[in-house]
Amino acid sequence: MTRFATHSKNALAMLAAMLLFSLAAYAESATLKEQLDRCEQLEHGQPEQAIELIEPIIAELDAQQQPFERIRAVGCRAWSLGVLGQLEQKQRDLEEIKQLLALLTEPEQQSQSLRLIATLKHRSGETVESIEALKQALEIAQNNDLTDDLIPLYTNLGIIHSEAKNHALAIEHYELALELAEQQGNIQMRLPILYNLGLTYRGADQLDKAIEAFEQLLEPLEAPGMEIRLASLLSVLGSIYREQGRLEQAQANYERSAALHAELNNPAERSALLIDLSYMALEQDRLQTALDYSDEALSTARESDYSMSIRGALQARARVLETAGRADEALELLREFNQLNEEHLIEQQRSELNELQAQIGYEQQALELAELRTQQQQQQHDLSQQRLLLWAGAIIAILILLIVIAALFWQRLKHRELTQLSRTDQLTGLPNRHRIMNFLSEAIHSDNADRYVLLLLDLDYFKQINDEHGHDAGDRALFEVAEEMRAFANNHQVDIGRWGGEEFLILFQADRPEDAVQLTTELLDRVASIRGEADIRLTASAGFAPLSSLQQLPDQRIWEPALLIADQLLFRAKKAGRNGFFGVWPTSYSARIQPHHLDDAIESGVYRLLQRSA
Ligand code: GH3
Ligand code: MG
Ligand code: MG
Repeated sequence: MTRFATHSKNALAMLAAMLLFSLAAYAESATLKEQLDRCEQLEHGQPEQAIELIEPIIAELDAQQQPFERIRAVGCRAWSLGVLGQLEQKQRDLEEIKQLLALLTEPEQQSQSLRLIATLKHRSGETVESIEALKQALEIAQNNDLTDDLIPLYTNLGIIHSEAKNHALAIEHYELALELAEQQGNIQMRLPILYNLGLTYRGADQLDKAIEAFEQLLEPLEAPGMEIRLASLLSVLGSIYREQGRLEQAQANYERSAALHAELNNPAERSALLIDLSYMALEQDRLQTALDYSDEALSTARESDYSMSIRGALQARARVLETAGRADEALELLREFNQLNEEHLIEQQRSELNELQAQIGYEQQALELAELRTQQQQQQHDLSQQRLLLWAGAIIAILILLIVIAALFWQRLKHRELTQLSRTDQLTGLPNRHRIMNFLSEAIHSDNADRYVLLLLDLDYFKQINDEHGHDAGDRALFEVAEEMRAFANNHQVDIGRWGGEEFLILFQADRPEDAVQLTTELLDRVASIRGEADIRLTASAGFAPLSSLQQLPDQRIWEPALLIADQLLFRAKKAGRNGFFGVWPTSYSARIQPHHLDDAIESGVYRLLQRSA
C-alpha cells in the first residue's frame, strides 16, 4: 500500500494499489513480473512513462500463451491512458482485456482480472458495469475459496456503494472485508478498510460509529512512518468531534494534527487546521487563543506560498482582529485579501482564457486540417478525372483506329464485290464479256496456247420463247441454261461466260479433234436435255475454232480472229438447221489463217471441218 487515503477518491487509488499488491503476489518470470510491477507503480503518477515501459512488453506478450500477463500489461496501459484522458484508447484496451478473460482457466486469475476490469470501469464512471464485474469476481472467489481475493473484492464493492450513497450496502461489504482481515490477522488490510468504514459512517451521519471505526486506527497509526496518515485521521476525527460539539476533543485532535503537519513540513495543511482552530476559539470567545492561532495560521500560510491558504488565513485573521477591535489591522489584511483575490481572479480568468484560446486553436487546427483534407480529396478527384480523361482519350483513339481499319476493310470488300460484280453477269452469275476477254488473253499468252479451242454457242429460236412465254420466262430459261453450263464447266474444267444475250462462250483445251467434237456434242446435248417451266424445250447451235495460229489484223485483239471464225461456223450451224455445230481443226500449225479466208482454208485442207448437224 502506497498511500493512506484521505477521502473516497484517494480510497480508490489506495484500492488500486491494493489490487496491484495482490496481483504482484502472483508468481511469474522475475523480469516480466518486475516490469509489470514497475508499470503499475508508475501508472498513477507518471502515466507516460508507464505506457512507454509497457508498450514493447505488450507487443511481445502472446495472448494465447500468456493471457493473464497480457491482461495485466494491457490493464496498466489502460489505466495510464485513463489518467491521461485518452479514453478511446483506454476503451479499446478494456475490450481486449474482456476478450482475453475467456482464455483464462485459473479462477484466481479470472477473479483478479475481473477486479481489474471493475477498477478500470469504476475509474471511467461506469458504476453498473464495475459492480457487475466485481460480482462475477466475487462469485469466482467464493466458489474457489480465494480468501485473499475476497477482502479487496468486498472492499471495492464497499467503496462503490459508498460513493453511490448506498451506505448500508457499503457498510455491509466493509464489515465482511474487515471480518475476513481479522480472521487472517491481516492488520495491513484492516487499516484502509476501517478508514473507509469510518468515512461511510460519517457520510451516513452515524458519527459515533464513525468515531468508533476511526479510533481503532489511532493505535496502529502511531507506528513510525505512519505520521501523514495519523495526521489525516486526527483531522477527520477533529472535524467529527466539532460537528458533535465536542470542541475540546476537536481542538486536541486538530492541535495534534497541526503539530504532525509541522513536523512533516506541510504548511498548507497546518495553516488550514490553525484557521479552523482560530474560528473555534472565536466561537468560544477565547479571543487571545483565536489571535494566537490566526497569527500562526497566517505566517504558516505565507510559508506555503499557496494563495488559497494565504487568502483563507487573511480572512480568518481579519475576522479575529475585527472582533478584537483592531479594525485598522483588519482593514489592512482585508486589502491584501482583496488584492490576492483579484490576482487570483485574474489568474483564473487568464487560465480560462488560455484554455479558451487553446480550444479555439484546436478548432482552428481542426478546420485547417479539414480544409487540407478537402484539398487533398479535390486533388485526388482531379487526378482520377485526368486519368479518366486519359483513358477515355485512349479508348476513343483505339475506337477511331478500329473504325478506320473497319472502313478500309469494308472498302476493300466493297471493291472486291464491285470488281466481282463488274466481272459477273447479273442474270446468270456467269463471267461477263469483260471477264471472258481476260481469260481469253491469259490463255492465248500461256505456254499451251495451241491447245485452246474457242466455242461460241447461241440458243435456237429464242425470240420465239420470249414471245410465247414472256420475257421473264425467257430470263428463267437463260438462268437454267447457265446452271447447266456451269455444271458442264465444273466437270471438264473449262472456262465459260455469257457473251451477250443468249450467246455463251466456252474456252476449252483439246489435243485431238475427236475430243473437241465429244465436248461440243455433250454441251449441246445438255442444253437440249433442259426441261424448263411449261416444258420449254431449248436447243443451241455452236461453232468452234482453235484460239491461236490465226492471222491478226490491225486493231484486232489477239483472240478476235478465233472469235470471228467461231461465229462464222455458228452461222453455218444455224443455216444447217440448228441444234448442231461446226468446228475447224488445223492440219498444220505453221500456217496462219485469215478469218476472211475460212472457206479457202477448209477447201485447201489447212483446216479440217468438223460437224454435227441436225
Ligand atoms: P436463232 O438464234 O435461232 O436464229 O433465233 P433467235 O430467235 O434466237 O434469234 P437471235 O439469236 O437473233 O435473237 C436473240 C433473241 O434473244 C433476241 C432477244 O429477244 C432474246 N434475248 C436476248 N437476250 C435476252 C435476255 O437476256 N432475256 C430474254 N428473255 N431474251 C433475250
Ligand atoms: Mg443470238
Ligand atoms: Mg438465238
